Amino acid sequence: MKQKKVYIETYGCQMNKYDSELATSILAGEGYQVTHHPGEADLILVNTCSVRDHAEMRALGRLGALNAHKLANPRLKIGVMGCMAQRIGEQILKEKRFVDFAIGPDSYRSLPAILDRLKEDNARQICADITDFEVYLDIYPNRESGVSAWVAIMRGCNNFCAYCIVPYLRGRERSRPADNVLDEIRQLSREGFKEVSLLGQNVNSYHDGDVDFPELISRVSQVDGILRVRFASSHPKDLSEKLIRAIAAHRTICNHIHLAVQSGSNKILKLMNRNYTREHFLSLLEKARNLVEGISFTTDIIVGFPEETEHDFHDTLDLVQQAQFDNAFIFKYNPRSGTAAAEMQEAVTEEEKLARLIELNELQNSITLNRNRELIGCKAEVLVEGRSKKSATENMGRTDTNKIVIFPARSGDIGKIVGVQIAGAEGHTLFGEFPGI
Ligand code: SF4
Repeated sequence: MKQKKVYIETYGCQMNKYDSELATSILAGEGYQVTHHPGEADLILVNTCSVRDHAEMRALGRLGALNAHKLANPRLKIGVMGCMAQRIGEQILKEKRFVDFAIGPDSYRSLPAILDRLKEDNARQICADITDFEVYLDIYPNRESGVSAWVAIMRGCNNFCAYCIVPYLRGRERSRPADNVLDEIRQLSREGFKEVSLLGQNVNSYHDGDVDFPELISRVSQVDGILRVRFASSHPKDLSEKLIRAIAAHRTICNHIHLAVQSGSNKILKLMNRNYTREHFLSLLEKARNLVEGISFTTDIIVGFPEETEHDFHDTLDLVQQAQFDNAFIFKYNPRSGTAAAEMQEAVTEEEKLARLIELNELQNSITLNRNRELIGCKAEVLVEGRSKKSATENMGRTDTNKIVIFPARSGDIGKIVGVQIAGAEGHTLFGEFPGI
């Protein structure tokens, strides 16, 4: 019996990467093996993102390209997963006749039944139920071996930030039982993984009875064999001193927080329904920097949100100057139909959005470079993740402050934490050497 093969392409966030590992695990139970060559596949899946128009256009483009394999092999099945499938699954099936099914983030358990029906009567289907309970707790993700693994500790979001489509596509927040998360991490350690990243749209609101997020990550940090623990994403309105103290108390919890500020203007933060002020945000950074030496911060910022004036934008420039982030992911506002912000009057032109994006990136890039240059001459503990993409004689790894370091490759280093002397910094990358060599 020929081994059935599934080829999967994943777009968007780490949560989608985790979901693809869940889906291929469910399919492994149906006899499917993962292939990295679409031409070999019996089933092609595209796991999609809806955070911006561009992400959807890209996935739709890929679907068209992948259809070439179906023209060559008419028995091939093609499915769309993820947020775009949840948002516009019916439209995709109407417009793309070669797509056999669309399945949303809460419906991956239906994959076997969908494939059975396709085999029986070639029925094209949509499965887009949103639940308030699904956390796939009995499904162990199908991961490729490596040093780092993502672990979703919860699903959904209750925050309804005005620009964000996620709560409408992934439903309400629900947390996995703490024991279930810990079982998965112990298994990861047995499989040789050294670093885990705990995932959620807003991990700070995780709870399982009286186990809150600081308690959960403290327990995860004590799992044998796990050298590093990271987490994302944190919402500033829920970031607690208890979590900051847990980071300070546990050596394996990395000294890095990704804390999305989105804007430096209180007027815009209110319109975005973010529920904190710039003052509160800056006070969190100050508190954490007092409690955790050398802690690093990265963030997300949106420029050109409806009603953002030059004055509001300067508040954002000023906040970025004060915050001194180690890095920032900056985006032009992009209306998503169905969100509260999509109903707001857009006043910022595309030219102005682009000018603000360029100005803010220039400021942040100079801050990032200065902060990285301050590390030259310092020793850093780096978890070696593998060969550098650019050179076979160099390894790549991260500091616990989540900075990428490139340094000479030595055999046996992958998966270990090694001491590296920082010798240079370029853009967002550090360059290291082994002391005395
Ligand atoms: S916290 Fe806000 S931005 Fe993040 S997923 Fe939830 S609604 Fe979206």
